[in-house]
Amino acid sequence: MTAHEVLKTYWGYESFRPKQEEIIREALAGRDVLAILPTGGGKSVCFQVPCLMREGIGLVVTPLIALMKDQVQNLEARGIRAMAIHAGMSRHEVDLALNNAAYGDYKFLYLSPERLQTRLFQSYLDVLKVSYIVVDEAHCISQWGYDFRPSYLEIGKLRERVDAPVIALTATATPLVARDIMEKLKFPEENLLRSGFERPNLSYIVRKTQDKIGQVRSVCAGVEGSGIVYVRSRARAQDLAESLKAAGISASYYHAGLGALSRADRQKDWKEGRTRVMVCTNAFGMGIDKPDVRFVVHADIPDSPEAYFQEAGRAGRDGKPSYAVLLWNGTDTARLRQLEEVSFPSLEFMEELYQKIHIFFQIPYDEGEGRMLKLDVKEFCKHYKLQLSPVYYAIKYMEREGHWTLSEDMDIPTRVKIDVDRAALYHTDLPDPAMPQVLETLMRLYTGVFSYPVSIDEEAVAARCGVSIPALRQLLYGLSINHVIRYIPADHATVLFLQHSRLRPGNVQLSPQRYKLLRSTFAERTQAMTEYVEEEDTCRSRFLLKYFGQEESEPCGRCDICRAAKARPADLAARLKAWIGEREGQYTLKEVAAAFGTADESYLPVLRELIDRKEVPHHQ
Ligand code: ADP
Ligand code: MG
Repeated sequence: MTAHEVLKTYWGYESFRPKQEEIIREALAGRDVLAILPTGGGKSVCFQVPCLMREGIGLVVTPLIALMKDQVQNLEARGIRAMAIHAGMSRHEVDLALNNAAYGDYKFLYLSPERLQTRLFQSYLDVLKVSYIVVDEAHCISQWGYDFRPSYLEIGKLRERVDAPVIALTATATPLVARDIMEKLKFPEENLLRSGFERPNLSYIVRKTQDKIGQVRSVCAGVEGSGIVYVRSRARAQDLAESLKAAGISASYYHAGLGALSRADRQKDWKEGRTRVMVCTNAFGMGIDKPDVRFVVHADIPDSPEAYFQEAGRAGRDGKPSYAVLLWNGTDTARLRQLEEVSFPSLEFMEELYQKIHIFFQIPYDEGEGRMLKLDVKEFCKHYKLQLSPVYYAIKYMEREGHWTLSEDMDIPTRVKIDVDRAALYHTDLPDPAMPQVLETLMRLYTGVFSYPVSIDEEAVAARCGVSIPALRQLLYGLSINHVIRYIPADHATVLFLQHSRLRPGNVQLSPQRYKLLRSTFAERTQAMTEYVEEEDTCRSRFLLKYFGQEESEPCGRCDICRAAKARPADLAARLKAWIGEREGQYTLKEVAAAFGTADESYLPVLRELIDRKEVPHHQ
């Protein structure tokens, strides 16, 4: 099959989008390639097509579990064999999955980068027949990028053991970051393909306002169709959603602090149009492919143009006119200015914090590698009388330095192991008549359930048993107090995963040079955001494109700045004359309004003056 035929057969698409074909061609020729396409540009197809056309299995490294699951489901729905290995799976489950990957007929193995270093994964490298190493969200490998993840650096090492070309993909890379990605991934030579980042149907609007709630309400009322409203905090998400609802607007809220089920429900309701507006933190939106989002409002300024461009870009994937509105005021810019200070606690503070965390969990020197610590940051701060935000940012900084991985609000699935052997089960006296069926179902769905605690899908088990999820939990609890099963209930927690054993003071070695560098690139990004909102002359689209290294672009004609320029009298007089000239003086007021209309109707006085001066004929 040719690439075209693969696209048609598995996806039903007639043609490739810009650059997809070139990227696929590079990959098929066995050359490493970095693809930069905007969000929604169709990056997945760029690696999925070549993986399908080559023998073996594609290793796909991607940082988010939700995305992995989504993509695997998506592939399976097209009849393609794919699987995922992610945090939260037990060693046994991982072993089983890798065994399948090596000996089953799979085309894709999705992995989180932390997996690459594990001995278990390494032990399978020789038997895995790898077609491509795919690096999704490749900007995570660059310390210059806005979302650096040290575990991504392991991919470079993987290249020494696996002889397969790399396909790296990202939506956000400045020229500096792009070069860094190719270097870190050990490209023999630079090979970069990027498509234009113009979004011709998207109007960028920036509005300075003290009444953000009123503005959000008026966007929701003025633009039809569904939308997303981004806010900075969880509390604000809930508040704003309530206030929209009070104004009669169909709205819901979403943030990582909600349970997995509630999040999934809310997302589904919004995606399927039962909720019109989603008010959310930046936890929402990654990998959600809803084509008909008509507006994305940012009620607070995001920290970087990278984040802004990604989030705003979720509007108008279907190519129809859409709005990206950013609301701000002096409080936002002041906060941005302070953010650098807050986000970078001193090196001494961080080195001390490193020890305190270990002491808090009673982990001695030279121990602790691989431990998962359930960390309640508030509790920790209270214990040491520390302030929350420097502690939080210090933990994030040390994560970048590779000391640990912080998984906030992780959904830890319910685990169950049956403690009684199969034969004895039938003689066990169970207090509830529904219990045997629960056990039966567990045995049928999870082969390993007698040997080790398996993660179970409560929804699936409950459905099969014909009970609700709360009822199922009650039954599982009942079984556990009768010593039939070991039951580890689902949990929602922040987990700190230790990458190595506890270092002694003086050995933590945070580099002052790196600190300076990270801090200054961070400051550059917040500075760029401030410039973006304060900008008065440059087209919004051009501003953003230039930031991402696209020097040449036309004014978009639809952003607030382009609109204001069009409404300026001098320009306007000339353009009105030209326009009326083209029509040989035949025109109606309605036609002028359609071509030049703005909210303040500024074309009217200009037109009147032209008519008075007899520079143009009167309208009909
Ligand atoms: P990205 O990862 O770049 O944000 P995705 O790979 O998720 O984007 O693709 C976005 C959407 O575009 C998906 O629904 C995908 O199926 C669709 N798509 C990709 N390539 C094509 C194509 N050639 N023709 C039509 N739709 C496409
Ligand atoms: Mg993608």
